[in-house]
Amino acid sequence: MSHLTGDPKRHDLSSFEDSITGSCLCGSITITIHDNLFTKPRGHLCHCENCRKATGSIAAANLTIEGDKVKIKDRNHTLKCFADRATGSGDPVYRWFCAVDGNPILSKSDAMPGLVTISMGMMPVIPQPEMEGFAAHKHTWFKSPDGVKSYAMMRTGELMDE
Ligand SMILES: [Zn+2]
Repeated sequence: MSHLTGDPKRHDLSSFEDSITGSCLCGSITITIHDNLFTKPRGHLCHCENCRKATGSIAAANLTIEGDKVKIKDRNHTLKCFADRATGSGDPVYRWFCAVDGNPILSKSDAMPGLVTISMGMMPVIPQPEMEGFAAHKHTWFKSPDGVKSYAMMRTGELMDE
């Protein structure tokens, strides 16, 4: 088992003070975020149906950040985009993924110019999330992280009482 590197606890968080880098499953696409993500809770979980489908998971672990803090390398030109138009707002979400392994990479929306939403599962360590969106659509058995701000739907909308 010693060749397996997936334990987030093996990383010293001080090594991510300037940046953190992650890659897709096949290694074609690498993303570097130039920011220190570990000084306070950062990012959000998304419980919307579309994020569940796109990630194959109970919720998406996302981080929305200024696009100019993010560098993408697409070594084998496998980065592809799906325009997700089945959204509540009607604004498409552009979901970028690796065409070789299906790894979600990031998404963009015209409603959030200059910002990108990174799929944090690629990263060696995922920061504890600050918020969760579409909490009204959360599964009953899902236990949200302590202290998380729960928005009923969009993170620009109403907070939920818990
Ligand atoms: Zn890949």
